[in-house]
Amino acid sequence: VRLGLSLLAALAVFLVGELLLARFIHGERQRIAELDRFMALQELAAYRARVEGHLNANLISIRTLRADIALNPEIDSRRFRRLASELLTADLHTRHIALAPDLVIRHIYPIEGNASAMDFDYRDNPEQLASIEQAIVAGDIVINGPIDLVQGGSALIGRVPVHERDGGRFWGVISVVVDHERLFRDAGLMRTDRWQIGLRGYDGLGMAGAVILGDPGLWLRQPVTMPVDLPVGQWVLGAVPPAGGWQRPMHTFQWQWAAGSGINLAMGLLFFGLLSSRNRLRGALLTIRHQARFDPLTQLPNRQYFMYQLGEALARARRQRERFALLFIDLDHFKEINDSLGHDAGDELLQEIARRIRGVVRGNDLIGRFGGDEFVVLLRELDDPVDAELVSSKLLTALHPTVSISGQDVTVDGSVGIAVYPEDGHTPGDLLKHADLAMYAAKSAGRGTSYFFNDSLRQHAESHLQLHNEIKRGLAEDQFLVYYQPMVDASSRRLVAVEALLRWQHPKRGVVGPATFIPVAERTGAIRELGDFVLHCACADLRKMQRAGLDPHLAVNRSSREFNDRAAVMRWIEIVDRHGIARDHLIFEITESVLMPDRARQHQLLRRLNAEGIRLAIDDFGQGYSSVTYLKKFLISQIKIDRDFVRDMEESDEQLALVEALIKMAQALRLEVVAEGVETAAQADHLAGLGVHTLQGFLFGRPMPLEALIDAWGESSPPGR
Ligand code: C2E
Ligand code: MG
Ligand code: MG
Repeated sequence: VRLGLSLLAALAVFLVGELLLARFIHGERQRIAELDRFMALQELAAYRARVEGHLNANLISIRTLRADIALNPEIDSRRFRRLASELLTADLHTRHIALAPDLVIRHIYPIEGNASAMDFDYRDNPEQLASIEQAIVAGDIVINGPIDLVQGGSALIGRVPVHERDGGRFWGVISVVVDHERLFRDAGLMRTDRWQIGLRGYDGLGMAGAVILGDPGLWLRQPVTMPVDLPVGQWVLGAVPPAGGWQRPMHTFQWQWAAGSGINLAMGLLFFGLLSSRNRLRGALLTIRHQARFDPLTQLPNRQYFMYQLGEALARARRQRERFALLFIDLDHFKEINDSLGHDAGDELLQEIARRIRGVVRGNDLIGRFGGDEFVVLLRELDDPVDAELVSSKLLTALHPTVSISGQDVTVDGSVGIAVYPEDGHTPGDLLKHADLAMYAAKSAGRGTSYFFNDSLRQHAESHLQLHNEIKRGLAEDQFLVYYQPMVDASSRRLVAVEALLRWQHPKRGVVGPATFIPVAERTGAIRELGDFVLHCACADLRKMQRAGLDPHLAVNRSSREFNDRAAVMRWIEIVDRHGIARDHLIFEITESVLMPDRARQHQLLRRLNAEGIRLAIDDFGQGYSSVTYLKKFLISQIKIDRDFVRDMEESDEQLALVEALIKMAQALRLEVVAEGVETAAQADHLAGLGVHTLQGFLFGRPMPLEALIDAWGESSPPGR
């Protein structure tokens, strides 16, 4: 594509060049044509001067005679001959001069060869008479012709009227016959080669007169023209190029075309070369930049680029007030492996390690290789520092399996140092240094472990880990129990359901409430076993309640994290079925957060539960994302109004209004309403009056062991205590 574009651009350069060239040549043609016309005009001006000069020289004779006769009208042949012979020098083109007193020719000089014209009366020839009348009117020399002569040949005839000086009586006419062909030849008109020359203006009529000399076609080819002034009227000289018009034909510019096109082609090629070398350069720069940023072996960001990205992450975390963790991973004994198996094997191993690390962290976390066997991971948007610990142990687990390289099985372990922003530093350099230090601490604490740089974070993480281990042990040693809290019908106050609530009979701490260990169990994943345990236990206990004559529905809490486990639903169904519990007796309490729109995977599991016939309740309703739409989208059967609302509704009108609104909304959606935390009879009555279906709270019973529940609500016991 790049190449094609370069080619196109080069072609464009060439075409633009050709366009300019065409314009240039067009301009050149115009300019040369203009120049030619100018030069032709110059030449015509020279011809004109010569023609006028020659003509005037030939007319001097009759002007002189006219002046002489005006003074001495009685002229005899002798005097005429003498005068004429003096006037007609050899260089003139005059063939003869004739005097015609009273319009009859009486004297001719020279008479030889012209005698036939003697005694010619102009009055006998209307044509010639008209010319003479014209001359009389004009009072000056009128030149006619060229005309065919009586005595043979053709010539120009100039005629001038003569009036006597005394009295002004008309005397007659003097005429001169001029050999125009010789005259024109002497003026140079005959041997022009540069231009084709023509003359028109018969009888001095200018452009209107007929052609006197040259090719008549010339006058159709836009000639340049120059007037030749006669005593009366004028002739016109015209010139055109010997062939064609003034504009030279295109082929006369072929060298310019060729040279110009050659230059354009060269420019295009040059441009193409420039572009493609620029592209090559850019490609090379990109490669260099990639090489400058990424480790060629693993394609992971190198130290510089990682540190740069770390800086960006830090700025972002500062703005958003987020936490992130920096993990510094160092492979244990990598040097030995590298030395014993060889460099190539070492490279292969590092690539495998990079793959494994990539497999553990999230897509938007950043992994870098700092050379050697040092890897660094940036965990973004950390909810709790414990998560860093959890990822570390996942990493260490992932690194552990044997890798077979060039026929050898090798096992690698690593040590991870953890630094957390903002606790452990505010610059990339500090964070890295601290993660590095923590890594050394991890190494010395024993290989295959991770270590927090920060003491309190370490303690925090350790306490989590410890709690996690204690939960595991607690499950194994039956330290967990399930208590049941009654839920009663709002009007009859009969037991309709029980909520299973988890308790931990800790060997040292006594009975521990779920608030302290459930969040940790959710993080560490222990929630899965805890959840299964509660369901298992509650189902077994429900059977016991039924045997004791109670038949409540069973509400079991499910934490949102439990819905991350794809297999969970099938396991739960299996537990319920195994205990022979009718599925419609079961209701799972979930929190609103599970219904958030971005949790498509969790929603799938909810639908599965629905499909299996297990009902859903929204626990602690009103706390969070109170959007009605999600309630409609899922098959929710029940909402449990949070106990904070119930507690405050007696004191605050606002809270009361809120509770009323929640109830109305639930009724509109045909949902069953449970009120939690009912502690006083007043609250109970008020809530019943508002239309709440089921009540739960210390007023009817605290969470209690199974036996206590059966004692309080068994057959013998009266309803409502
Ligand atoms: P929850 O589901 O909203 O449970 C009701 C909590 O309200 C229980 O606290 C209960 O003791 C308390 N309670 C009931 N009536 C009253 C009352 O009238 N006044 C007051 N002040 N409190 C009342 P508990 O047992 O400490 O449980 C706390 C939370 O722990 C539960 O809230 C539930 O979200 C979670 N939980 C308990 N057991 C489990 C379990 O098995 N699995 C999961 N995932 N979460 C559980
Ligand atoms: Mg609950
Ligand atoms: Mg609740």
